[in-house]
Amino acid sequence: MSTMALQRPVSVQWDVEQAAALYGIRNWSNGYFDISPAGEVVVNFREGNPDPGGVSLIEILRGLRERGTQLPVLLRFRDFLTSRIAELNESFAQAIRESSYHGVYRGVYPIKVNQQQQVLEEITRFGERYHYGLEAGSKPELIAALAYLRDREAYIICNGYKDEEFIDLALQSSRMGLQVILVLEMPGELPLILERARLLGIDPALGIRVRLSTRGSGHWAESAGDRSVFGLNMSQVIDAVDYLKEQGSLHCLRLLHYHQGSQIPNIRAIREACVEATRIYVNLVQEGAPMGLLDLGGGLAVDYDGSQSSSPSSSNYGIQEYCVDVIEAIKQVTDEAEVAHPDIITESGRAVVAYYSVLLFNILDVSSFEPPASPAALPKGAHETLADLYSVEEALSQRTAREGLNDAVYYRDQLRSLFVHGSISLRERGLGEKMFWHLVTRIARLVEDMDPIPEELEDLQGTLVDFYYGNFSLFQSLPDSWAISQLFPVMPIHRLGERPVRRAILADITCDCDGKMDRFINLRDSHQGLPVHPLRDDEDYFLGVFLVGAYQETLGDLHNLLGDTNVVSISLEDGRIRYTHEIKGDSVADVLAYVEYDPKELAARFRHFAEAAVAEGRITPQERRRILTAYEDGLRGYTYYEHP
Ligand code: PLP
Repeated sequence: MSTMALQRPVSVQWDVEQAAALYGIRNWSNGYFDISPAGEVVVNFREGNPDPGGVSLIEILRGLRERGTQLPVLLRFRDFLTSRIAELNESFAQAIRESSYHGVYRGVYPIKVNQQQQVLEEITRFGERYHYGLEAGSKPELIAALAYLRDREAYIICNGYKDEEFIDLALQSSRMGLQVILVLEMPGELPLILERARLLGIDPALGIRVRLSTRGSGHWAESAGDRSVFGLNMSQVIDAVDYLKEQGSLHCLRLLHYHQGSQIPNIRAIREACVEATRIYVNLVQEGAPMGLLDLGGGLAVDYDGSQSSSPSSSNYGIQEYCVDVIEAIKQVTDEAEVAHPDIITESGRAVVAYYSVLLFNILDVSSFEPPASPAALPKGAHETLADLYSVEEALSQRTAREGLNDAVYYRDQLRSLFVHGSISLRERGLGEKMFWHLVTRIARLVEDMDPIPEELEDLQGTLVDFYYGNFSLFQSLPDSWAISQLFPVMPIHRLGERPVRRAILADITCDCDGKMDRFINLRDSHQGLPVHPLRDDEDYFLGVFLVGAYQETLGDLHNLLGDTNVVSISLEDGRIRYTHEIKGDSVADVLAYVEYDPKELAARFRHFAEAAVAEGRITPQERRRILTAYEDGLRGYTYYEHP
């Protein structure tokens, strides 16, 4: 049997519509990406695009190559950042209008989700029309926020643990007219904040973060609920209110905040938390606090796998439904209690920035799964167990696939044990192994078209896939894929007019056994391997990982000393691609310096070693020069595989 035997039955019929369905691109891309009739993934810019057609990622790559930018490269699309901010704000505005809600929406962007300067600059510039503010979870984030936010109607929400310096900076900025709110994460922060405020002669704007009993769902379920790390429980909230009353500062309490966790896939959990929080809000008003602001934190989920379900990488609601549901929940509870509708803040990060970035990389090599050649005919006088194994093939059909696999495993194990006891020869055992893999491959082919695939046979396909080695580091560019098994949409960005006849696990270049993506979206079984095309000689094969704008850049680490990738911002102006904000990825010297090596000292040490080799007559002075040049070029070079 040839390698091609693993292909699906080859029909010539294949078009880009089938590719779109296979990779689910229209389910997860929010309309930002699609496939062109030429079989390439295209970007649908909203700004600066005079033509309705999208711009091919391959064309963008071509331009980058001409400019000397190496892969892997992270492309950022400003267009999608601004479009998401608009979508969020306008969805809230519409829900507010349609439900006759009296408050307004004043969202803030949580800097931690993507702290890149360009993101902050873009969000504060574009967000001004909506009075869109920032959330700072630490002193450095507050310092960055203060440098960019100038809108006096937008909020800066200060979460996180606060020292005196953090508090003073927030208070002084509110003196300058910014709306900075200090949110209590722990009861102990209150006396310090009031003391600093008194010393500086400033009335602080205060918020309280609460721990709700309603738990979230998805990866981050632990972030909420009674045992979450941050926020005050109900008795601590009452103590804080009493303390504020005692200190004559209850008039400073303006905001109630909670955060259920990130990526809450189920709208029911969001609604339940919102109802509980609004009840607390109403009680605080009834205690005499002016309030006015209800901050629902983050959690607005992104449908990474496009399944519109409550699975952890998906979301069973859209932005509009989210807005309508939370407005309705808040309205209902406040109306019942005859309390004025609060202005609403959300700290939605992931939903705003996920679409912003795409990682592109090339495949460096392939290790193909080779189905074993058909085993030789059963030799005369062969052991009966070997004959039994051979006979499994005769009865094999889709209906008997499960039974066939069980029998094959049973007889293979019997043959192993017979060999250990000296009852069969090495040659017979070898024949048995060959027959076993032949049967497994045939069963996998039979199973491929079954719907549903019986549970016991689901993993079978995963054992028969190729390894495609990609020029990227999972730990640097997709840490959540490794750490919390988050699924991201991955697909080839060209050749989509051709049927992808291979299935592959994507391995990165870290040589770490965890450095791989082996679960993919949009497959009946996420373990089946990604459908890909066979490599062609002298032609690069490019894959894209989409929706990586949230959390991935900063969480990435220097595993195997593979550093930050090159980054380029892409926009359209009058239909022409513009490459801006180009940031060179880490050089080898950069990453070595992060882990305390001094690149100059490294070069000096190597020079010394080379000189000794000259003295010992191992190399000539000319060879020394060439070796040193290679070493120094290596230090200056990109940490990833460089195209010659
Ligand atoms: N607010 C707080 C306090 C957070 O800790 C986070 C992140 O976990 C967010 C907002 C952002 O959440 P998301 O990205 O789910 O919108």
